[in-house]
Amino acid sequence: MRYLKIDIKGIVQGVGFRPFVYRIANQGGITGRVVNTPLGVEIEAAGEGDQIYLFLRALKDEAPPQAVVEDLRVTSMEPFESTGFEIGPSEWNGQKSVLISPDLATCPDCVRELFDPGDRRYRYPFINCTNCGPRFTIINDTPYDRPFTSMAKFEMCAACGAEYGDPADRRFHAQPNACPECGPRLSLLDAGGRALAGDPVTMAAGLLREGNVLAVKGLGGFHLACDATNDTVVAALRERKRRYGKPLAVMVRDMEEARRYCRVSEREEELMRSPACPIVLLEEQSDTALSREVAGGLRHQGMFLPYTPVHHLLMAEIGAPLVMTSGNVSSEPITTTNEDARRRLHGIADYFLVHDRDILVRYDDSVTRVFLDSGYPVRRARGYAPYPLRLGRSAEVEVLAVGAELKNTFCLLRGEQAFIGQHIGDMETLEERGHFEEALRAVQRLFSLEPRVVAHDLHPEYLTTQLALAMPQPRVGVQHHHAHVVSCMADNMATGKVLGVAWDGTGYGEDGTVWGGEFLLADENGYERLAHLYSYPMPGADACIYRLYRMVMGVFSEVFGGGEQGLERLRELVDIDDREAGLMLLQMRGGFNAPLTSGAGRMFDAAACIIGLRSEAGYDGQAACELEAVARRTDKAYDFALDRSSEPWVVDTRPLFRGMLSDANAGVGVGELAGRFHETMARIIVSTCAELSAATGVSRVALSGGVFQNVLLTTSVVEGLREQGLEALLHRRVPCNDGGISLGQAVIAASRYNTGSGLE
Ligand code: ZN
Ligand code: ZN
Ligand code: FE
Repeated sequence: MRYLKIDIKGIVQGVGFRPFVYRIANQGGITGRVVNTPLGVEIEAAGEGDQIYLFLRALKDEAPPQAVVEDLRVTSMEPFESTGFEIGPSEWNGQKSVLISPDLATCPDCVRELFDPGDRRYRYPFINCTNCGPRFTIINDTPYDRPFTSMAKFEMCAACGAEYGDPADRRFHAQPNACPECGPRLSLLDAGGRALAGDPVTMAAGLLREGNVLAVKGLGGFHLACDATNDTVVAALRERKRRYGKPLAVMVRDMEEARRYCRVSEREEELMRSPACPIVLLEEQSDTALSREVAGGLRHQGMFLPYTPVHHLLMAEIGAPLVMTSGNVSSEPITTTNEDARRRLHGIADYFLVHDRDILVRYDDSVTRVFLDSGYPVRRARGYAPYPLRLGRSAEVEVLAVGAELKNTFCLLRGEQAFIGQHIGDMETLEERGHFEEALRAVQRLFSLEPRVVAHDLHPEYLTTQLALAMPQPRVGVQHHHAHVVSCMADNMATGKVLGVAWDGTGYGEDGTVWGGEFLLADENGYERLAHLYSYPMPGADACIYRLYRMVMGVFSEVFGGGEQGLERLRELVDIDDREAGLMLLQMRGGFNAPLTSGAGRMFDAAACIIGLRSEAGYDGQAACELEAVARRTDKAYDFALDRSSEPWVVDTRPLFRGMLSDANAGVGVGELAGRFHETMARIIVSTCAELSAATGVSRVALSGGVFQNVLLTTSVVEGLREQGLEALLHRRVPCNDGGISLGQAVIAASRYNTGSGLE
């Protein structure tokens, strides 16, 4: 006989792991016990040599679908008495570092029961099991046990209690277990808050078909839903929500319906069907029945599958794809409570499909895409956060990084784990600040995290910087693009120095200018700014983000030798009234509110305006997205020059803009112009990296910053770098945009703490 103690770490709680162990132990003649511990699962097992061998094999190979075994350690132990195999009580000693899986989409077993008229949960909108259902959205505290969840107020009926207590059942210790007898209920309310009689799902489906906007309470917050094939209602929803231009996500019933509207690769299907069930950006087919209002003029459409039983029931009845966009106004945080929904979504939603299971923590839908055959995240939230990423090396101190201002996330670092919080959104208002603080508290409490150092962006006006300055811990200020590059390194578990190309819209530079077209030599200890794009004035500063012609004014003033000359050329493209023209000239002449920027994102804005796509933008990055959407791939490019006489080197893009303008005047088509612009920007990256690599001997290039969400550009860059014998590191686990900044900040702060440098 052999006696073993087996310690397992990873996602092994709330995913049916103990029943699985119980089953394979009984099948294999193993005796002993299995318990949940604060660190994972502990097994004591006794058996003959080959029984034990098969048991260990099965533990590794046959674990439940949602379990992730990160570490399995076997030690021998003193012989013990046991006659059978049992599931022991959980052992807690105040320490809380067990990993709970993120919220999971309804599993195939539950979907089958949901539509089985013979099942006791037939059409029950809250069906779930240990393989699926709500997790982080309903947890208040750990251990992950029912009393600490928003299921506490629902007392299980005898039948549910029996499943919950039966180790052989799929619902053994499924904390949100419920049925029509004992669990949460759905109701349909009109705009005045009165409940309507009848089956809420059937009626809601009818109202959606008739062209109403419904607020639907989901897993991490409310959605606003409407028929995605109905132009009138989609336009109305945009108007009421004050969401102009930005694309809207669409929920489809199944993959067959998805393919009716979009091209879907195998890898994309895999992502859509994964338990995280993210919105996946897909290439839209031409001429579909989807309303043109949905995609907002872009070529890619965000699509996702039903991920709660309510969604499955609705989609089965409605027979049309639904716009499902977060239930909020403009950029406010997503709504979570029924009262809040009635107040804040009043005038937007015509009806409310609500339930009485509280959402304790807000989560938006995650957004991702497939790029070069792997996931390329855009927004990390439901289904992913805050399950920690492994970094492949250990930080010696717990760190909190508060992230940037736009697309904010925070990151808590402990040991080799990075707990990156869910997407918060743009940190510009008190409400978003509240969302940030609430999410941060939840993650700290769930994982007993007590950061000793706080990292923040250098921008003094970011709300996140101000939050960090108000905290008692020592602080580390991290340059924005340095954080981008180190985030990409940590994402790839890369160590040593890299050439970092950090291209984005805007980031606070250390020389008083606005950076964003940066070539850095960097690691987590520091960086050197080796080169950057030519810096142009931004008359009116951030006003340029929305009034693109102002950025063109800045560019033309440099290209054509002065403000007056620039204005003259600008007026050939756009009507500018005298007052605004005078103001811009004044700003540039005095350097008043006209900072210099090397931001690559701003160059995309200027290019879009020059070729006549649009002169004003409804949201940051709109013009750049449209420029990508219209661009045709070409191998023609414009001139540019690398000026090595200055330090750092400067990539002069004035020849590029001169060339583009003369092509535009010569009648070259918009698609070709946009294509040539992309090709030029890609060549700038490739040739500059090749030069820098020759000068430094570093041949790995980390590509980070929101500009790399542009897959047309990034494709050319990756190909070009490969031809030069350079290796490209791409983001794979966190977004390349500012949503990934906090990871880089945290890693840099941990390193600074170790060396004691740069602490405030
Ligand atoms: Zn299930
Ligand atoms: Zn029940
Ligand atoms: Fe950025």
